Amino acid sequence: MERTFAIIKPDAVQSRYTGRILQCIEESGFTIRAMQMRRLSVTEAEGFYDVHRARPFFGSLTQFMSSGPCVVMALEAEHAIARWRMLMGATDPAKADVATLRKEFGASIEHNATHGSDAPETAAYELGYFFPGIEFSK
Ligand code: GDP
Repeated sequence: MERTFAIIKPDAVQSRYTGRILQCIEESGFTIRAMQMRRLSVTEAEGFYDVHRARPFFGSLTQFMSSGPCVVMALEAEHAIARWRMLMGATDPAKADVATLRKEFGASIEHNATHGSDAPETAAYELGYFFPGIEFSK
């Protein structure tokens, strides 16, 4: 079993897609081990997306991520990291495959509904960033 870190981003929460995305998550075989609705501060969003600090869209991205509540989650499944990224689809919803979350619920390359860790080290870092010291329920 593997755990990954996922976010339902502020655009999807604002559009009332939270329930439909959670249903897709459960129907796709993930177990939700931890979940919290919270609004990130700009500083938290900047820390989370630190690898993108030099990108031209960094300011816009961190403003967006702190613009309203989001849902942060720990998802568990076999090969959870790769499977969650498959379910999300490509970063740009216009390029995402049909039946992916970003195709269905994303509005633009920035407002793309969901986040998912891209590697085991990233998942460990991001889970620790949002759920420090948590004992994941069984
Ligand atoms: P991800 O792993 O698929 O989320 O993609 P990245 O790690 O490359 O980018 C992180 C987030 O930054 C994406 O999910 C988008 O919200 C945003 N983003 C990525 N590329 C762009 C871009 O070219 N323009 C803008 N405005 N936002 C972007």
